Amino acid sequence: MAKWGMVIDLEKCVGCQACTIACGMENTRLPGEHWQDVIFFQEGEYPNTEIKWFPRPCMHCENPSCVAVCPVRATYKSEDGQVLIDWERCIGCKYCMIACPYGVRFYTEEKARYGGPNMKDVFPSNDAHSWNPPWRMPQEDWKHGVGVQPHDVVSKCTFCYHRVSKAPKGTVDLDPQNPATREFTPACVVTCPTGARFFGDLANPDSEVNKQIAYKNGVRLLDHLGNKPQVYYLTGEGGSVPATRSIKKI
Ligand code: SF4
Ligand code: SF4
Repeated sequence: MAKWGMVIDLEKCVGCQACTIACGMENTRLPGEHWQDVIFFQEGEYPNTEIKWFPRPCMHCENPSCVAVCPVRATYKSEDGQVLIDWERCIGCKYCMIACPYGVRFYTEEKARYGGPNMKDVFPSNDAHSWNPPWRMPQEDWKHGVGVQPHDVVSKCTFCYHRVSKAPKGTVDLDPQNPATREFTPACVVTCPTGARFFGDLANPDSEVNKQIAYKNGVRLLDHLGNKPQVYYLTGEGGSVPATRSIKKI
């Protein structure tokens, strides 16, 4: 069994948001319903301020507070350490959204849309739970929160479960530069033009993610909360990762 984790090097990240778009296309997200935002924020006091940013996927916490509060066990952890949502069980109560300290869960009916018609009205379905757009992922899989998101459920980044779960057992690094592992690598990692993202097995000391974390002092977002994220940031000299939730978003 693997323990999948991600490393994001903030010294390499240029804030282009290609990861956001790649994630949206890979996971059939609608405009304004991104699972992987890049957060821009202001550091310092005027006039000595600096604009910083960091990409924010689900942290796939080792100790996920979202799982602990779900009253119907729709949110769960896979054997390989991914935190997933079973859309067949989810009742849309949103407890998990409140419990998650990272703000990475979405109840799409509440998200602002960018103009245009509501696509869920344009492509209705015969039942109250789903809707029926003409585009679908070939890997549609509600048990793992993969596919066109139905009505009245919560969703979030799956660490591209539909790709990663097909990697041969024993794979240590999912490297987009390696033709043997590229197809199993999360879409954001494949797309990142600066190679700022790494994905691999945190349980294997020889994995590239562990090497990056060790050599470059990887840190976790809001680590004092005890969720133990499986996403690490490399901040180096030029990067930054907010230590509190009271950052000024811009
Ligand atoms: S694609 Fe890479 S460089 Fe661009 S915002 Fe995402 S992590 Fe940063
Ligand atoms: S970041 Fe939030 S949604 Fe993701 S596993 Fe952690 S608590 Fe759950």
